[in-house]
Amino acid sequence: MAKVVSFSNQKGGVGKTTSCVNISAQVASKGKRVLMIDMDPQGNATSGLGLPKSKIKKTIYDVIIGRCDIKEAVIKTAFKNLSVVPATIDLAGAELELYDLEEGAENFAKIALDSIKDDYDYIFIDCPPSLGMLTVKALSISDGIVIPMQCEFYSLEGMSQLLNTVKKIRQIYNPSLQIVGILLTMYNGRLTLTYQVVAELKKYYSDILFKVPISRTVRLSEAPGYGKPICYHDPYGKGSLEYAAVAKELMMRI
Ligand code: ADP
Ligand code: MG
Repeated sequence: MAKVVSFSNQKGGVGKTTSCVNISAQVASKGKRVLMIDMDPQGNATSGLGLPKSKIKKTIYDVIIGRCDIKEAVIKTAFKNLSVVPATIDLAGAELELYDLEEGAENFAKIALDSIKDDYDYIFIDCPPSLGMLTVKALSISDGIVIPMQCEFYSLEGMSQLLNTVKKIRQIYNPSLQIVGILLTMYNGRLTLTYQVVAELKKYYSDILFKVPISRTVRLSEAPGYGKPICYHDPYGKGSLEYAAVAKELMMRI
């Protein structure tokens, strides 16, 4: 049965999509069967895996509103063991519709995912930059959450808000939601601020911090432009090696 892991942080631009795409590809390249679900209306994870919008027929939106079976929305990528359920901008509508459409939400949460869990080892979900309904639903059906964050002062404030949300989701929907880890992204060890933020994080969250942070590298930011995860775009570069280490740690944790 697949483990379901959401990449979530209500802040935008912290490396959720980059981490979800690259960890999905890494884990898949190691022989695990991986499905990545794009839950962000911006569809960045979809395009980052080289899927042109024109090729997309069914999306996660169709699944959520019960218009199609999740199996119909799965697309095989060009990369080993890696499939994706894509998202397009129409998913933005689901954020509102989910409030009314309890049945659709239920479809997605229970029936849809359960029906494919046997086909995969890991299902990774790229969440949108908010704590709205899409994120709440994703976390409600997840076994774990990975929290990518940048080493900035405001990240620490955001973290307590996010952990509060995790607590509420455990109380209301999903008591077994596990925090797989906090992942430092766009890390620059030469900045004093980085040291201060890391020191602060270690004080409170040392047990859930991933050991290896992800450095800021141009290679990681250019890879989506080529429609490739970093392990195919620049296999021996820093970004690829660091994501490989994080993927390994993740697989040991969940
Ligand atoms: P989110 O999904 O949280 O909004 P993204 O993964 O899209 O964040 O990252 C935001 C921007 O930062 C993107 O342009 C991405 O290419 C870039 N980026 C992410 N991680 C790195 C990194 N380690 N080094 C350099 N650029 C990065
Ligand atoms: Mg994103």
